[in-house]
Amino acid sequence: MEYFPFFMHLRGRPVLLVGGGDIAIRKARLLNKAGARLQVVSREVAPELEAIVRDGGGSIRVGEFTPDDLNAVVLVLAATDNAEVNRNISEHAQARQLPVNVVDSPELCTVITPAIVDRSPLMIAISSGGEAPVLARRVRAQLEQWLPTSYGRLAGLASRFRQAVKDKFSDGDQRRRFWEQVLSGPIAEQVYAGKDEQADRMLREQLAQQNDTVGGEVYLVGGGPGDPELLTLKALRLMQQAEVVLYDRLVSDEVMELVRRDADRIYVGKKRSEHAVPQPDINQLLVDLAQQGKRVLRLKGGDPFIFGRGGEEIELLAANHIPFQVVPGITAASGCAAYAGIPLTHRDHAQSVRFITGHLKNNNPNLSWPELAQPGQTLVFYMGLLGLKEIAQQLMHNGRSASTPVALIEKGTTDEQRVIVATLDTINAKVEDLGANGPTLIIVGEVVSLREQLDWFGTNR
Ligand code: SAH
Repeated sequence: MEYFPFFMHLRGRPVLLVGGGDIAIRKARLLNKAGARLQVVSREVAPELEAIVRDGGGSIRVGEFTPDDLNAVVLVLAATDNAEVNRNISEHAQARQLPVNVVDSPELCTVITPAIVDRSPLMIAISSGGEAPVLARRVRAQLEQWLPTSYGRLAGLASRFRQAVKDKFSDGDQRRRFWEQVLSGPIAEQVYAGKDEQADRMLREQLAQQNDTVGGEVYLVGGGPGDPELLTLKALRLMQQAEVVLYDRLVSDEVMELVRRDADRIYVGKKRSEHAVPQPDINQLLVDLAQQGKRVLRLKGGDPFIFGRGGEEIELLAANHIPFQVVPGITAASGCAAYAGIPLTHRDHAQSVRFITGHLKNNNPNLSWPELAQPGQTLVFYMGLLGLKEIAQQLMHNGRSASTPVALIEKGTTDEQRVIVATLDTINAKVEDLGANGPTLIIVGEVVSLREQLDWFGTNR
């Protein structure tokens, strides 16, 4: 973090603005909006600038900058067209430890002005630390479109009821949950529709009715295979809403970045052999947290209902009457296949696709190898790296051609994705040779060769 963001209260406080051109006028207008008492120093003063300063009760001195202009101001802005003058102002201001901003010269600034989206009292400031102002402005443009202008009024509603809600819910989490319900529900809709009075009435009623606890719930959410852009909108919304998150090894760091900043994070990761937190304990933890009134996010790699033990987790929730939602995610098979250029089905090559656990060690699953060896189907093995040799041997032994193409995809959809392609009789040696770690998915079937035929040059990542 190169700059520390904060918002400065300028109402009634003296701010020095040196310069009288278009940029100075723009700055003056903004500072005036924030209620600053402008002290303008400039060789020439356009009538427009004069009007702004007069409006805000400030003063103008026609002439050159002198260090005395810095007396008794709280902020300094230099917007002259003379680089020397700007530098001089910056040096003097810094010598006095005054925050100074020089337009378009980040090296002379101790504070920089962000691009802003103004939905007062809601204010969004965007900065690229002076490195990419055009990008910052682009983000602003996107946010401008995205945030209804009525957000300012919504914030007004929150402000009117702030104290009443505080009185009702002494617990901070409870309070936050109440507000989230209000701001994402029908009351907010009234505000968007311009019916503020109606919204006030509904909120008053809700406060009167509601007992002083808001119950917890659990979101069982598929976080996809790695690339955060593969999250669903619903996943993202719930990730932003939960107060505590239980996640495991398969959830990528980039996806975790999108979880609400102040949420508690509990790692319950499992590796092939070691179980960090045993499954029954995870199930119980979800129940306990929800019973404490928390909104709990159980974030899983891929899809929670595909080799995710999601079923076991919700069983206990249901038995305890805890409300929950399940949000599907893009499973590793879909994600890896798409990013590796392998269609899972194909009119000519594969009329079906199977998702199979390749975890062959403990309680050896009853895989029907003769069936799996049938042609015309794509096999996708999850958790198959350790069993790769056996998988390939069994398939050949049961009649699938040794020349059947196989792809092993490591860390699919992440920017470390690696694809190793071979055939049933060569894949094991090749993978041993190249080495692989991290989650890997094995795709067996003729569709794998389409990757080459398509001369895959996909640019998903
Ligand atoms: N619920 C998950 C699967 C959990 S089982 C899903 O729907 O994707 C764990 C296995 O998923 C791993 O052993 C690996 O085979 C596969 N897997 C998950 N993410 C992967 C990734 N990014 N790349 C390759 N394989 C992955």
